[in-house]
Amino acid sequence: MNPDTTRPTDEIVDVLIIGSGASGAAVAWSLADTKMRILCLEQGDWIKPTDFPSNGRDWEARRYSDFDISPNRRKRDTDYPVNDDNSPMKVANFNGVGGGTILYTAHYPRMHPSDFKVKTLDGIADDWPITYWDLEPYFTENDRMMGVSGLAGDPAYPPHQPNMPPIPLGKTGTRHARAMNKLGWHWWPSDISVASTDYEGRAKCINLGHCTPGCAQGAKASTDITYWPLAIRAGVELRTRCRVREITTNEQGMASGVIYYDANGEERFQPAEMVILAANGIGTPRLLLNSASARFPNGLANSSGLVGKNLMLHPWPQVFGYVDEEVDGDRAPMTVMWSKEFYETDPARGFLRGYTLQFSRGTGPANEAITSMAAGRLPWGKDHHKTYRNLLYRRMQIGIACEDLPEEHNRVTLDPVLKDSHGIPAAKIDYTISENTRRMMEHAIARASEILTTAGAKNLFASRTALNSPGHLLGTARMGTDPARSVVNEWGRSHDVKNLFIVDGSVWVTSGGVNPTSTIQAIALYIADQIKQRLANLFD
Ligand SMILES: Cc1cc2nc3c(=O)[nH]c(=O)nc-3n(C[C@H](O)[C@H](O)[C@H](O)COP(=O)(O)OP(=O)(O)OC[C@H]3O[C@@H](n4cnc5c(N)ncnc54)[C@H](O)[C@@H]3O)c2cc1C
Ligand code: SF4
Repeated sequence: MNPDTTRPTDEIVDVLIIGSGASGAAVAWSLADTKMRILCLEQGDWIKPTDFPSNGRDWEARRYSDFDISPNRRKRDTDYPVNDDNSPMKVANFNGVGGGTILYTAHYPRMHPSDFKVKTLDGIADDWPITYWDLEPYFTENDRMMGVSGLAGDPAYPPHQPNMPPIPLGKTGTRHARAMNKLGWHWWPSDISVASTDYEGRAKCINLGHCTPGCAQGAKASTDITYWPLAIRAGVELRTRCRVREITTNEQGMASGVIYYDANGEERFQPAEMVILAANGIGTPRLLLNSASARFPNGLANSSGLVGKNLMLHPWPQVFGYVDEEVDGDRAPMTVMWSKEFYETDPARGFLRGYTLQFSRGTGPANEAITSMAAGRLPWGKDHHKTYRNLLYRRMQIGIACEDLPEEHNRVTLDPVLKDSHGIPAAKIDYTISENTRRMMEHAIARASEILTTAGAKNLFASRTALNSPGHLLGTARMGTDPARSVVNEWGRSHDVKNLFIVDGSVWVTSGGVNPTSTIQAIALYIADQIKQRLANLFD
C-alpha cells in the first residue's frame, strides 16, 4: 500500500533487497533460483574497473580522496555521512555495487567454531543460536562463488579446501614465517579471496599493486564481479543510485515496501511482499530507526530496544618496523599469512577471548613519506633522501584483529543534526574500547613486536588508535531465539515484522577475532536457504 498517493509507485516485487554489498549480492543470487521477482536498491553506482586508482600513478593520492575508506572524507554524492566524533575508531565503508568488497583487502578467514559459543566457553556475552557447522556448507558454497586461495590443513580450523593454491608469501612473508618458526608459534598461509590462478572467467593476480583501492585486474573477488553478473543473468533487477529513506508497514504491521529517492532525486514508493536488509552494521540500524511510525515508535523491528546497540568494530592495532633490505613494499596482495597462536582464551593472559595476527607487506612511497614524516622518522634537511631510501620498501607490518565484545553502550543512533544529501538523518556512533580489549591489544602489540624483532626489524612503531579502522561493522541487530534479547531470529527474520529479514553484519552476536566478510556471506546464503525452505508458510 502506498502510504502517500502523491508519490509515484513502482510495480510490486516479491523480494526487495536494500544494499548490493557482500551480503546483498549473496542473498540475491541464492534467491534467484526461486524465480520470484527480486529487486535490489543500491544507493551507489557500478564502479568501472578502469576508474580504480591502481590503474594510475596517483593511486596513493586517490586513497585520500575519491577512494578514501572513510565516507566522511570521500564525500561522494552516493555516500552518507556518519558522525563518528565520539569514537576512537572511525568508520570505513564503500557505497556502491559490491559495497565494502570494492575496497576490502580480501583477507578471508572464517569465524572459528568457538566464536559461536562464547558464553558457554568463557561465561561472557552470548552464544549464537547457530553454530559453525550450520554454516559449514554455506562457507563452502560462498568460497566457490568468490574464489578463495589458500592452503588446506591449517590445524587452527576444521578441515576445508580452498579453491586455488595460496598467494605466494613473497619476501616479506618469508621473513615473517622464519621468525614465527624460530619462536615456535602457529602460522599459516591465509585464505584470501584473490585468485592465484585464472578462476571462473576472472584473471589471476599479477601483483599490479595494492588491492585496497580496487583491483583493476579483476583478481580480487568483489561482489560486482562475482555474484552480481550471475544474479542479474538469473533475473534479479539491480537499480543503482536509489537511496532508501524508510521501510513502510501496513495495518497488519507487516513491511509493505520502501520509500526511496531514485537516480533523478525523485521520491518514490516501491511496494514489496518481503524486505531484506543488507545495508551493513550501520546502514541497517539507521534505516530501521528512520522507519519509526505510530505503531513502531522506537524504530522498526525494535521491540527489544536493541536496534543499533552492541556495535562491534574490531580494534586493530598495527605494529611495524624496518629491515635492512628491500622487501615487497606495496606490490601484491597486502596480507598473505595469519597466526592463531593467541586466538583462543587463555585466562593467564589477563583477558578473555583473543586475536589473529595478520602479517602484511609494506606500503607505497607517498604513504611511507607522509607517515614517516608525521612520526618523526624522516627528517627534513641533508639526511632526508638517505633516510627515506632506508625506509622505502623495507617496512614489515603486523595488523591485529582483536575481538571486541558486545556492549550496549556501543551503539548507532540517529544524529539530531547531520543529514545526507537527500535530507535523511545520518547515523551517529558512540563507541569506547573496553578494558578487556585494551589488555588484549597490549598483549598483542608485545607479541607482534617480538616477532618483528626476531625477523630483524628495527625502528618499531605501534599504532593503538584505530584511525585505520578495518571497516567491520557488526552486531547492531543481533540474532537470537529470545525476542527480548535479539532483533532477528535464528534464521534472520525480524521477531516483530514477519516479512522483514536482515542478512548483513548487523546480525552478529559476537565478533570473533577475524575479518568478517566470509562469515557475513555464509550467513546471507544460510538465511536465503531458510527462506527458500519455508516459502510456503514463511509468514505464519
Ligand atoms: C578498507 C576496507 C578494508 C576491508 N578489508 C576486509 C578484509 O580484508 N576482509 C574482510 O573480511 N572484510 C574486510 N572489510 C569489510 C568488508 O568490506 C565488510 O565486512 C563487508 O563488505 C560487509 O558486508 P555487508 O553486506 O554487511 O555490507 P556492505 O558491503 O557495506 O554493503 C552495504 C551496501 O548497502 C548500501 N546501502 C546502505 N544504506 C542504503 C540505503 N539507505 N539505500 C540503498 N542502499 C544502501 C551501501 O551503499 C552498500 O553498498 C574491509 C572494509 C573496508 C572498508
Ligand atoms: S595485487 Fe593482485 S589482487 Fe591486488 S590489486 Fe593487484 S592484481 Fe589485484
